[in-house]
Amino acid sequence: MDQNHQNDIVAKTGLEPHVLIFPIPFQGPVNCALKLAELICLSGIHVTFLNTDHIHGPLIQHTDVLSRFNRYPNFKFQTIPDGLEHEKPVSGDLFMEVMAATETVGKPVFQEMIVSGNLSRRSERPVTVMIPDACFSFAIEAAIETSIPVICFETVSPCCLWTSYLNLPTLIQAGDVPFKGDDLDQLITSVPGTEHVIRRRDLASFCRSNDLSEPVIELILKEAKTVPRANGLIINTFEELDALVLPHMRKLCPNTYPIGPLHSLHKARLVAQTTQKAPKTNFSNSVWKEDRTCLQWLDKHSPKSVIFVSIGSLATMTVEQLVEIWYGVVNSEKPFLWVRRPGSIIGGYDESQIPGELLEPTKERGCIVDWAPQEDVLAHKAIGGFLTHSGWNSTVESIAAGVPMICWPYFVDQQVNSRFVGEVWKIGVDMKDTCDRLIVENAVRDVMETKKNMFTECADNWANLAKESIGETGSSSANLASLINDIKRLSASK
Ligand code: UDP
Repeated sequence: MDQNHQNDIVAKTGLEPHVLIFPIPFQGPVNCALKLAELICLSGIHVTFLNTDHIHGPLIQHTDVLSRFNRYPNFKFQTIPDGLEHEKPVSGDLFMEVMAATETVGKPVFQEMIVSGNLSRRSERPVTVMIPDACFSFAIEAAIETSIPVICFETVSPCCLWTSYLNLPTLIQAGDVPFKGDDLDQLITSVPGTEHVIRRRDLASFCRSNDLSEPVIELILKEAKTVPRANGLIINTFEELDALVLPHMRKLCPNTYPIGPLHSLHKARLVAQTTQKAPKTNFSNSVWKEDRTCLQWLDKHSPKSVIFVSIGSLATMTVEQLVEIWYGVVNSEKPFLWVRRPGSIIGGYDESQIPGELLEPTKERGCIVDWAPQEDVLAHKAIGGFLTHSGWNSTVESIAAGVPMICWPYFVDQQVNSRFVGEVWKIGVDMKDTCDRLIVENAVRDVMETKKNMFTECADNWANLAKESIGETGSSSANLASLINDIKRLSASK
């Protein structure tokens, strides 16, 4: 639809497209949602970005998002209380606590906002399309009840969304979940598309529960019901990468928009619309302070020589696990850059607990930081491998950068992602359910030495496809264009 036609519609209906973006209050989803918000802003559509207080505080403390978004007259931040008293971003063990508090405290405020408040039809600029996180079922239901078109944004991986979220009712009905017996290697045959790939141990972590009344299972079952009722579904992938699951998913959610790698598409669009010769390309949305000195440390290393170690924003490890992984990395003899997020080692540790034979080589060839500019790190030519917890954003960022992975999944979609990395995309080693120094050392050596050529070739191939997808004629660019058109169409039909 061209601009004139759109203006005609607006003139007739009096409703200008106005999108409300509402991410769940965690680093990964907020980062993605901000990128999506900026892409939508660039198309001229009004965007309100709703954050909970808990995540908004550290976001504005550690980034320049306020000034960055200030240049869009069609963008505004709004916050909503969540009743959370933790001062800092929390780890994954408190995920359900955050979700419950946000729903209890935020839901009534949210409903008031969209029914009679500053986002409602009574306001000057009503919200015409809502884009909540796909697991904010209360927001999706509120949108449906108030007849506001809703497009869900799911930031977990499509392979997990398909196998373990949308098909959780199928898995339960087929008797595949809860597991009977303890054979975690049994293939899961009830989910179409992944029958030869996914074993019990590769389903999302909550599928290992014996108790179907656990809050996390209830949350996912709710999502499995609400998402197909929405007008659309946005996901962070590209068509080729998830060719195994997308055709199946589209039977349930026909308007699915794969617009990934989102961070690459976002960067490309920002660069394209600037007139500056050397545009700024580091756009931090981090809720911890980024330590950029590690980039200078990387500059001193030869190409593909360094292993990057990070477990993201929610995962944790025990001191025993830390020591095993540390030994594995040190014994591989590769230089390493390791992110040790504050709070990520359960109970903390001091150096007296760590054997000297780890500390010495760490001084020689290691760099440890609290939080890194991960996209820039992965894009640095010195990085040859990524020991990751297999969070979806980290996985997509690594794929886009052509960096092979060593996967040590922690929870939720990470078990599925690591399986796809090892078995479907063939760009790394899945260490799932093990944490042993020799396994770590061998995995690092496989990726960075013995099987380096094979992994690098596959990783380069996927990186090229990722790049094509965000190019002018690429599938993710086309999907973004459809999304923008559909937002305008849905707004006009209100
Ligand atoms: N991240 C970062 N710096 C770090 C570690 C992580 O900027 O030192 C970012 C990373 O680039 C990714 C996000 O944090 O975008 C982590 O999201 P992911 O889905 O991988 O895992 P989660 O933290 O949600 O478990």
